Amino acid sequence: MRFSGLRVIKEGLSGNKGWTPHWRNPEPKSEYDAIIIGGGGHGLSTAYYLAKNHGMTNIAVLEKGYIGGGNVGRNTTIVRANYFLPGNSEFYSHSLKLWEGLEKDLNYNVMHSQRGQIALFHSDGQRDAAVRRGNAIRNQGDDVELLSREDVQRLLPYLDYEQARFPIYGGLLQKRAGTARHDAVAWGYARGADQRGVDIIQNCEVTGIDIENGAVKGVQTTRGAICAKKVGIVVAGRSGQVAALAGMRLPIESHVLQAFVTEGLKPCIDHVVSFGMGHFYISQSDKGGLVFGGDLDFYASYAARGNLPMVEHVMEAGMTLMPMIGKAKLLRSWGGIMDMTPDGSPIIDKTDTKGLFIDCGWCYGGFKAVPGSGYSFAHLMATDTHHESAAKFRLDRFRTGVGLMDEEGTGAQHNLH
Ligand SMILES: Cc1cc2nc3c(=O)[nH]c(=O)nc-3n(C[C@H](O)[C@H](O)[C@H](O)COP(=O)(O)OP(=O)(O)OC[C@H]3O[C@@H](n4cnc5c(N)ncnc54)[C@H](O)[C@@H]3O)c2cc1C
Repeated sequence: MRFSGLRVIKEGLSGNKGWTPHWRNPEPKSEYDAIIIGGGGHGLSTAYYLAKNHGMTNIAVLEKGYIGGGNVGRNTTIVRANYFLPGNSEFYSHSLKLWEGLEKDLNYNVMHSQRGQIALFHSDGQRDAAVRRGNAIRNQGDDVELLSREDVQRLLPYLDYEQARFPIYGGLLQKRAGTARHDAVAWGYARGADQRGVDIIQNCEVTGIDIENGAVKGVQTTRGAICAKKVGIVVAGRSGQVAALAGMRLPIESHVLQAFVTEGLKPCIDHVVSFGMGHFYISQSDKGGLVFGGDLDFYASYAARGNLPMVEHVMEAGMTLMPMIGKAKLLRSWGGIMDMTPDGSPIIDKTDTKGLFIDCGWCYGGFKAVPGSGYSFAHLMATDTHHESAAKFRLDRFRTGVGLMDEEGTGAQHNLH
């Protein structure tokens, strides 16, 4: 089934009875060429690109819950490519280019909206850092503009420009950055993979990884054993636990990140805006809700819900930056489990077990990485070689100390990135 304007009109006129499920609900087979553990954004996009780019269609995605129930459906949907360090720069640049053609590629409306992101700065030092970051972004070939205080005032008139504590000096704008509808990204990739023959198996938890003579043989699941010579672990916040099934100890801590949404309002925030002096960022969803968030809850946890001190902190930051937010009623808050690495940059690599691959460590920035991660992880799984855009995301940098990418410059503490 292809989506088109004509199809929408036809279905609308005939009672919407012709739509078919987006993906099948197959029983797991006893053997596949490759298994992807985890049906989040990264797992589904990996399966899609394995099928599309490498012709591997005898694949299963094993998801312990339902598609879209993990972080891919819990994030604040920001998509950007404004990274500073080599390694990250080229990867996110590639990912943003994939976003730009994604809806056509998937024949699916993921509501990708390039509304621009403005990262505010509040001191001379922060302006210097923004200029350096801007130059790095330009060198990578991506767009960026340095905004003066007056430029920001024109674009974001609702911010508080009078407060003395965190005066707004200007901002760094990336016009090609923006948002996308997160569930639709999961559904679009799931549908695209399914159409190419990939089995998406929900309610199927992987409980063991079978290894013989240093090579992976398959997995144990709540729906029986499944054989495969290639297995990819792509389980975000559960990476440490699933890797432990293969005897690995990852340099990852799992932490909670919360987000919030208000009641629907008339359009008032045109961009994605981030506060440079505290952890606060905001955008407005297409339904009108103000979607915003802040920092991690700071303690390691597998609970996908946050606690009150961080709620208070985020609300305070929001009120400091844009007092108008105080008039909006908060509708909901939720949390997700973040796979935090010690340098804040991800891992896409082989493991010491032949045929076992891992893609994790996306911290709280992995939604924008969904296309690029799936593309490059599929390349690694299919060809056994790293894709050039993700060549620096090696696991052994945490053992050797060579090639660490501390984007935030906060040192080797997981919860500070
Ligand atoms: C509040 C919040 C805000 C965020 N905001 C942004 C943002 O604005 N921009 C951005 O770029 N990123 C953001 N992120 C980060 C982003 O959501 C994640 O980095 C990314 O979604 C993680 O990859 P994923 O989609 O594959 O994860 P998930 O969707 O969590 O997928 C992993 C899947 O693995 C499954 N799984 C786990 N264990 C097993 C097992 N044993 N067997 C089978 N399946 C298993 C899980 O059920 C889950 O569905 C945010 C995250 C949160 C929580």
